[in-house]
Amino acid sequence: MRANLHFYINGQWVVPEHHGQLPVINPATEQVAGYCPLGIDSDVDIAVKAASQAFETYAQTTVDKRLDLLQSILTEYKKRTGEIAQAITEEMGAPQWLSETHQAASGYLHFKSAIEILKKFIFEFQQDSAWIRKEPIGVCGFITPWNWPVNQIGCKLAPALATGCTVVWKPSELAPFSAQILIEVLDAAGVPAGVVNMIHGDGPTVGAAIAKHPDIDMISFTGSTRAGIAVAEDAAPSIKRVTQELGGKSANIILDDLSEERFAQAVASGIKTLCLNSGQNCNAPSRLLIPQSRLSEAEAIVKKTMESILVGDPNSKDVYVGPVVSELQWQRIQGLIQTGINEGAKLLTGGLGKPEGLEKGYYVKPTAFTQVNNEMTIAREEIFGPVVCVIPYVDDKDAVTLANANDYGLSGYVSGASTDRVHQVARSLRAGMIHINGAVMDRTAPFGGYKHSGNGRERGPQGFEEFLEIKAMLGMS
Ligand code: NAD
Repeated sequence: MRANLHFYINGQWVVPEHHGQLPVINPATEQVAGYCPLGIDSDVDIAVKAASQAFETYAQTTVDKRLDLLQSILTEYKKRTGEIAQAITEEMGAPQWLSETHQAASGYLHFKSAIEILKKFIFEFQQDSAWIRKEPIGVCGFITPWNWPVNQIGCKLAPALATGCTVVWKPSELAPFSAQILIEVLDAAGVPAGVVNMIHGDGPTVGAAIAKHPDIDMISFTGSTRAGIAVAEDAAPSIKRVTQELGGKSANIILDDLSEERFAQAVASGIKTLCLNSGQNCNAPSRLLIPQSRLSEAEAIVKKTMESILVGDPNSKDVYVGPVVSELQWQRIQGLIQTGINEGAKLLTGGLGKPEGLEKGYYVKPTAFTQVNNEMTIAREEIFGPVVCVIPYVDDKDAVTLANANDYGLSGYVSGASTDRVHQVARSLRAGMIHINGAVMDRTAPFGGYKHSGNGRERGPQGFEEFLEIKAMLGMS
C-alpha cells in the first residue's frame, strides 16, 4: 500500500493538510493500491512563490552548471528505473516489460537527449544589426496525464531545467506513485530548492489553480482536448504562453502497391502498435486505411493479429496488453464499441465485455471494426483502448482526404512500395509526426499536433524553444 504521499515545495517534502485524498486503484486487481492527496489553491500559491524566488538564481546558472545537474539526474534516475517501472505498472496497468523498456526508460532518455541538445544550443547570436538572446521564460506550470506518466513529464522537465526555468507540476491523480519517485530522483540529484515543485491533486482544483496563476509564465499541458481547452481558457486572462499536447485519431494508410508479404507486415505491425499500452496512446494508429481492392486480405490479417494478442496480468511475462487504466475508461470504451455496432460498423473480432477468464481487472477485448465509414463516431472520436477501425479507400487522393477529415492531427502512418507515392502521401497529411514504412519513434524529433491535437512542440531543439523568450538587442555591435 502506497500511502503518505507528500507534496514537494522549495526542496522540502510537505505533508498535505487534510483536504481529502483519492484512492489509487490498481487496474489489474481493482484493489486500492494507495492514496493520492488532494491539494488546493493555497498549496499552488506557496509552490509558485518558491518557484518564482528560485528563478532569480536558477535562470542565471551557466550551461555547464545545468549540464552537471542533468547528468546527476541521469545517475540518480538509473538507480531507480526498476522502481519507477513497478510503480507505473501498479498505478496504470502497463505490462511490466513495457513499463521497464518503454515507460520508465523514456523518462531517462528525455534527460539524456536534453544534455546533447544543451551542449550545442545557441542562446545568443547576431542577426543583421541585432543581437538575439534566448532567455528562460520563467515559472512553468506543468499538468500531465497518466498514460505515459514519466515520459510526459520527462519531455517537459528536461528542457525546462536545461533552459533555466523553474517548475510547478501537477501529475495525474491516477498516477501519483511514479511522480513521487521521480521527485525523489530530482531531490537526490541536488536540484536546487524551489526549482521543481510538485503538488498532487485533481484537475479542476490544482490544475485550474496552476492555469490561472498570475505568476506562472507558461503552461505546458498534456491530456485530453476537453481539459486542454479549459486550461487555455483559465490561462487567457494572465496572457501566459500555453502549449497543449492533446488527443489524436491517427490514420495508418497502407498503399495498394505492397507485395503480399510486406502488406501483411504493415497491417500486422499497425495493429501491434495500436494495442501497445492497451491502446492508450495519443498517437495510436487507430484508423487503418486500406485500399478497397485489398480489403478482405487486410481483414484476415487484422483478425489474426488481434486474436494472437495476449491480454492479461501485467506482471506476467508474455502478456502484451494489460488492463486499461480505470473502470471509467473501461466503461467509456464499452460505450464506444456499442456505438460502433449501433452505427453499423462490422465487428471483425473482439467486442463488448471482458476477455474470457479475466473477470477481475479492467480488461478490454482487442477489437476490430471493418467497413467503417469515416463519419461514424468510432472513426471520429479518440477511443483510447485496443480498438481499431478499418476504413476502405479508393485511391491515394481519397486516402489522404479521409485521413485529414478529422478534428485531430497528431500523427500519421503510411506504408507503400513506391517511394514517390509514400512521400507524397506523407507530405499531404495534416499531422505533426509521420511514420513512413514502419519507422519507429525518434525521441529527438519534435512531437506535437495540428488542429485539435494541440499546439507547440516537445522534444528536440524545438522543444527547448517553448521555454524561451526571445530578446532582440539593438546597437550592440
Ligand atoms: P485528462 O485531460 O483527463 O487529464 C490530464 C491532466 O489534466 C490530469 O493531470 C488532470 O488532473 C488534469 N485536468 C483535468 N481537468 C482539468 C482542468 N479543468 N484544468 C486543469 N487540469 C485538468 O487526460 P488523461 O485521461 O489523464 O489522459 C489521456 C488524454 O491525454 C488522451 O486524450 C490522450 O490522447 C492525451 N495525451 C496526449 C499526449 C500528447 O502528447 N499529445 C500524450 C499523452 C496523452
